[in-house]
Amino acid sequence: MDNQQGKGLSFAKRIYLPRVIGLGIGCFSVFAGLYPISQPPWVWILLVFNGYVWPHLAYLISTRAAFPYQAERRNLLGDSLFGGFWAAAMQFNPLPTVTILAMMTMNNVAAGGGRLFVRGLLAQLGGVLLAWLLLGPTFTGHTTQLQIYACLPMLTLYPMAVGMVCYQLAIKLAAHKRTLKALSRTDSLTGLLNHGAWKDLLHLKFVKCQQQRGHGTIALIDIDHFKRINDSHGHILGDAVLHQLSRDLKRNLRQGDLAGRYGGDEFCVILPATSLQQASEVMERLRELFGDYRHPGVPQLRVSLSIGLATWHPGLRDAAAWLIEADRALYVAKNTGRNKIASASLPGSLSIAT
Ligand code: GH3
Ligand code: MG
Repeated sequence: MDNQQGKGLSFAKRIYLPRVIGLGIGCFSVFAGLYPISQPPWVWILLVFNGYVWPHLAYLISTRAAFPYQAERRNLLGDSLFGGFWAAAMQFNPLPTVTILAMMTMNNVAAGGGRLFVRGLLAQLGGVLLAWLLLGPTFTGHTTQLQIYACLPMLTLYPMAVGMVCYQLAIKLAAHKRTLKALSRTDSLTGLLNHGAWKDLLHLKFVKCQQQRGHGTIALIDIDHFKRINDSHGHILGDAVLHQLSRDLKRNLRQGDLAGRYGGDEFCVILPATSLQQASEVMERLRELFGDYRHPGVPQLRVSLSIGLATWHPGLRDAAAWLIEADRALYVAKNTGRNKIASASLPGSLSIAT
């Protein structure tokens, strides 16, 4: 229901200004079409109501309705009913009739696609029948010079207003699309790249290293005995530790380094144009920094990291093979006492630093 309200409210707000402009200036076209014909006074009163009162009333009706979206669609059909009525009341004077009906149809297609287009046509037909019933069916086949001029504001200003609304909508949609794309690549807990996004970048960096024969090192970082932290102090504290590691990563890395959360308590970093030695120094700083973390609520808590490093070399078949080397190095760090860095320094060999 809240969703419906939100969707409908923005729809009603989007339609409000074009309706004020469209009906306000469309009134001139109808006025010029009706002028030579003697119609009863209530027709003129109805015209003023439709041109200058109805747009605001329609806005109030839709924004106060329980389902504003449906209410606004009904209002659009109301517009079409009025349009059909004015076409018949002007005795189908060609230019004013085509002007108001075409603009109304454009509005319906822009707001509701094919369905609203068809319903709008039916509502216009209903308006025609109503006018014929009240005023009688008559036709005028001629448009005067004055009537041509009276239609010009509607023919020029209204498409501009609708075009502007469509443009603003397109800009908003593009911004939403960018936000969604960024969200789909971000780990919600830490704000780092998520698994999929990081792996895509790993593939790109692998290809770059291959083409340029340059340096590049990756690191797999895992919190030691994290399950124990969760079990002893709860998941909220576990989350705070994960947060802390992501903060330390962001603080400790250079602009071009790419940090992600591989999953659970495992993090991953691509250090482009970085030798194994340089990467080892960066990760050592991170290991020490994270090791100093103290939680104010649990002062006895101690945390540490095991890190596996693998640098790119021409013997690597693909990005997956690169990752496997880092994973093997991490495994070695875990199995030789934790709280240390292990490196796949040469293809197939491993070295350990504490
Ligand atoms: P090791 O030293 O070998 O790495 O042991 P470990 O306990 O850190 O590793 P293990 O893989 O057994 O445990 C990881 C735990 O991380 C298990 C899982 O419940 C927890 N975990 C995964 N995702 C989250 C999360 O988003 N928040 C919290 N608080 N815990 C998580
Ligand atoms: Mg762990």
